[in-house]
Amino acid sequence: MTEDLIHLLPDSVANQIAAGEVIQRPASVVKELVENSVDAGATSIQVRLTDAGRTNIQVIDNGKGMSETDARMSFERHATSKIKDPADLFNLHTFGFRGEALASIAAVAQVELRTRRKEDELGTVIRIAGSRIESQEVDVCPVGTNFQVKNLFFNVPARRKFLKSDQTELNNVMMEIERVALVHPEIAFSVYRNDVELINVPQATLRQRIQHLFGKKLGQELLTIDVDTTLVKVTGCVGVPESARKKGAHCFFFVNGRYMRHPYFHKAVMEAYSHLIPSTEQVPYFLYFSVEPSRIDVNIHPTKTEIKFEDEQAIWQILIASIREVLGRSNVAPSIDFDVADCPDIPVHTMGFDKASCAPPTLTVDSSYNPFKQDVSSYKRPSVKWDELYCGVEGSSLGRELRFDALPSDDLPWSDNSLSEVQKQSDEGVQNRGGELFSSVPTTQSSCADCYQYKGRYIVTSMKSGLMLIDQHRAHVRVLFQRYLSQLSEHGSASQGLLFPEMFTVSTVQSVVMEQLLDDFYNLGFDISNMGGGSFAIQGVPSGIEGLNPISLVCDMLAEAMEQGDVSKEEIHHTMALTMARSSAIVVGQVLSASEMTALIEELFACEMPAYTPDGKKVFTIIAEDEIEKRFA
Ligand code: ADP
Ligand code: MG
Repeated sequence: MTEDLIHLLPDSVANQIAAGEVIQRPASVVKELVENSVDAGATSIQVRLTDAGRTNIQVIDNGKGMSETDARMSFERHATSKIKDPADLFNLHTFGFRGEALASIAAVAQVELRTRRKEDELGTVIRIAGSRIESQEVDVCPVGTNFQVKNLFFNVPARRKFLKSDQTELNNVMMEIERVALVHPEIAFSVYRNDVELINVPQATLRQRIQHLFGKKLGQELLTIDVDTTLVKVTGCVGVPESARKKGAHCFFFVNGRYMRHPYFHKAVMEAYSHLIPSTEQVPYFLYFSVEPSRIDVNIHPTKTEIKFEDEQAIWQILIASIREVLGRSNVAPSIDFDVADCPDIPVHTMGFDKASCAPPTLTVDSSYNPFKQDVSSYKRPSVKWDELYCGVEGSSLGRELRFDALPSDDLPWSDNSLSEVQKQSDEGVQNRGGELFSSVPTTQSSCADCYQYKGRYIVTSMKSGLMLIDQHRAHVRVLFQRYLSQLSEHGSASQGLLFPEMFTVSTVQSVVMEQLLDDFYNLGFDISNMGGGSFAIQGVPSGIEGLNPISLVCDMLAEAMEQGDVSKEEIHHTMALTMARSSAIVVGQVLSASEMTALIEELFACEMPAYTPDGKKVFTIIAEDEIEKRFA
């Protein structure tokens, strides 16, 4: 007789396994507890964290509390007050419904619950650790519920190890709180980390809530959306086109009071702004959908934020139409045209060539010249001081690019249309330079003796094995990246004070990261102070980034750093250096002098990896000598 092998797992083990699905990190605990508080009708919720919640998470609410029996029951698996029969599953109006969260949390942490209903005189205190009830007593408690979750994963070392840096875990916690806070502006939220207040937002309207969380500026850049159709009701706000950002725009969708990710609807929103904002930028939005619960896929998995809609295509249309309507109604779209009409006239000759400021050519003709005279060779070209024609035309492409002495000597420039001839030459200036280039490269030995700029974009230089074409922007990115990277590991570099500090406000999550990056910013040459409340003041910027908007540069770097999530300092430095280098590198179209080109090439080849930008784009290419020869074969 062989023994039967199958037996039931003890509850504590089953709970631990189930917990793996629901509770992955401190943020999941916070999410579950805060959602329970919302479901319990709280009007004020306080979250207190020690470190990033690893050692202690406390959620205190003033909701309806629990009876003694309910308090005990709440930790049982599948114990819930929120649904009774399967039909309820398709008509959910609360966050929780599986009755799994508390059982899971209690399976992997040490939990203390204090709770009292207002009709009870005394409350209940229960201590439970690793699914084992340790004590239960009656005590004096305020009305509401207070959960304290200590030493998360104390009995699951593998999970504990799996946790990321405090910064990442805290980011996740704050993100969860932001999401709930955005759905419930009628509830006051406060968050403390090691007794330091991170968020403290009072009961408010949605607009005010957004302002409190993300700053006044954003609050003022929003337009209200309110559409009601048979399929869906959409309310909330979208940003005006001016609020568009390359990185880190606050984009939030909610459905029936739950945060959701929906890349398809995100595209719809951006589509509504096409032609109003650059395609690389994003507008902030806070959009709340209400749909018949049966028309969406019930969020069966508690950690899943993607939600499937039955009528996605129709909603796509509704979204675009309603956003466009709001943009139109608020005169945002038409005002763009008016703005253009009001703009000062931009001169057509942007390179500085302005006929009015140029004296017409004065021509002197050698009247004694007789072409039928024998001695033609004695003819001297009349001295026309062409350069003087354009004096006062600073930065003119003509002055710099057109080489008058390069005009064919038989193409005497004193015909009636000489000026337009000059203009034509200038239009072809770039190509002409190219022409000169190939005829005047003196030797093939010198590595960067002669450089020419082609199309304002490539530096062409000759080398032993052929012709090298260097992308000037990419080359500069490589050079600057290397420079910024080494600055980041040093201490402070040349900073240029700003006359008026530039102020900006970020969300609480961002301000936590910002605070951690201040030293790095300082090393790059940014002098930034934390003014509190998510506001920062830029008082100095690295020298050499004149003309760039310091706020968007700093915010881009912050967003890039945050997007990377939990990575080493080195990787963050890499990202910051690259973002800085990309924004401050010379652009395509920037005219470079010969010495600038030579300097750039020298610096490029002093870099460790000159051939590629830090993000893997080719910096230069070589047209081999034999390839050139082949073309002449
Ligand atoms: P669910 O939220 O899915 O019902 P939970 O395990 O999160 O499952 O909670 C179990 C039950 O405990 C809830 O249904 C609710 O009755 C009760 N409960 C949990 N948290 C609170 C709270 N903060 N205030 C009052 N009751 C609570
Ligand atoms: Mg719950």
